[in-house]
Amino acid sequence: MNNEGKEKKDDFYQSKFDYYSKIIGRLMIVSTIAYLAFFVTDCQIFGRFANETFIPRIIIIIPLTIFLILYKKIKNYKIIVPATYLMIHIIIWCTDWATYILPDRSFASEGMIVMNLIFLCAGYSAPFYYSTIAHALMLVDIIVADMFIHYDSLTMMILFNLPCIIAICIMNKFMENGYMDHYLTRKQLEKLVVHDQLTNVYNRNKLKELSYGETEEFNFPKDMEVCILIIDIDFFKKVNDVYGHEAGDVVLKNTAKILKNTVRASDYIIRWGGEEFVIIMQGCSIEAGMSVAEKIRKNIENSENGICKVTASIGISSYEGGNYHDAIGCADKALYKAKSDGRNRVVKYNRGD
Ligand code: GH3
Ligand code: MG
Ligand code: MG
Repeated sequence: MNNEGKEKKDDFYQSKFDYYSKIIGRLMIVSTIAYLAFFVTDCQIFGRFANETFIPRIIIIIPLTIFLILYKKIKNYKIIVPATYLMIHIIIWCTDWATYILPDRSFASEGMIVMNLIFLCAGYSAPFYYSTIAHALMLVDIIVADMFIHYDSLTMMILFNLPCIIAICIMNKFMENGYMDHYLTRKQLEKLVVHDQLTNVYNRNKLKELSYGETEEFNFPKDMEVCILIIDIDFFKKVNDVYGHEAGDVVLKNTAKILKNTVRASDYIIRWGGEEFVIIMQGCSIEAGMSVAEKIRKNIENSENGICKVTASIGISSYEGGNYHDAIGCADKALYKAKSDGRNRVVKYNRGD
């Protein structure tokens, strides 16, 4: 699989984990409580307080505590999902320990059914292949435990559990496919929210993604040079008036295409208003920005859009940190100067203008 495919897969599994991660934490707590509650059945089997199984039961608090600390601190599915399955296996091993002590072991298979249910729930947030391997390892647990516990019939134990394991793995696959639909729809919606439908460049909502939290400050590295361009099509109202609004839309789409083809893939093109675009260029000095702006101006001037010749005026400023609206405002002032100086030109913002 190429890198992009791997990244997409990682993103999908991380998103699946994030969506269901609350289930995992609660599942581990509920499973531990259930495991501890089985101490009552131990007492029932012994016909008295089962002090022999008290330690194998209560000791589960230690791995649960470690798990919950990890779960709170780490959000990466590649760590928490295996930790979850390890925790489930620890519950199995502790159950085996308690069963080994109990005078009557005929209820062990009921315990395994409960474990299967826990595996089913854990599968919600796990990649299918993780859940399959982790669940299949339950058979290894049974075989190893049999060496000490000597179940009434190992064959029956396996024959009971095998169909459960297969059925739950299939269910986990269905759950994963179900989440895939949800994930793709969400991705589509996320894309729609930050894109302009006519030109397919970003809209203003994209700025929120590029900012720290609720601030209006770019989240780019502090020492990175950032350039801001405002491009405004000249006399665009005339295009609409002479050729019609739909022809105007064609010109807008064509202009957006030119912008995309002229700047780097890492630059952000935003439709700022009707026929105005803002471009945010990271890692770009004002001199480099000036030459890109000039290239854009020439490409627009020389382009064929099938409607009419158009030109654009461009204002440019650097972003020096703080509120980005201030830097956009500076570029807008430069744009205003480009318009008043005769249009179809690039003007750099100078402090004091
Ligand atoms: P200037 O050279 O000073 O920029 O003049 P202008 O005519 O380009 O500027 P003005 O702001 O007066 O006109 C912008 C026009 O853009 C007015 C509006 O009808 C048009 N417009 C805004 N959004 C759209 C759109 O989505 N599609 C079309 N076709 N026109 C739009
Ligand atoms: Mg305008
Ligand atoms: Mg205009």
